[in-house]
Amino acid sequence: MTDITSEQRAAWAAKALLQYAIDKEGGEELYDEAELVLSDLLADLRHYAARESIDFKTCIDRAEMHYDAEVAEESGNQFGSRCPKCGKADEIDIAATVWVRLCPDGTDVTQAANGDHEWEDSSPVKCCACGHDGTVASFQRRPK
Ligand SMILES: [Zn+2]
Repeated sequence: MTDITSEQRAAWAAKALLQYAIDKEGGEELYDEAELVLSDLLADLRHYAARESIDFKTCIDRAEMHYDAEVAEESGNQFGSRCPKCGKADEIDIAATVWVRLCPDGTDVTQAANGDHEWEDSSPVKCCACGHDGTVASFQRRPK
């Protein structure tokens, strides 16, 4: 696990965005709201990619994958889930649909031929650290 946090990554991006804004419009701060300056930067990066024969959409897709992996790594589970109340990510239980093998003394989840564990955004979730409950969607860290 890397020590680089999402906050550090965002700080690097903010520094790059500020430098872009200063180079483009002068001054010492963003020339407009961050969302608009970021859109300008992305458009200019698209021009750069075209000039350099770089597949921009591949870069965007790769960036999304990296973002998802980095958020998941930082959150403590590969699904990017975290309790919105206490912040714990390693004591989350989800009411998932699983296949079980019927046995003489009950059921066995490890014997089922289909080992999938499936859930949806609306599936119930409970944080066993603090008792907070909600849905899978409410425990998702990534903004939609
Ligand atoms: Zn919690």
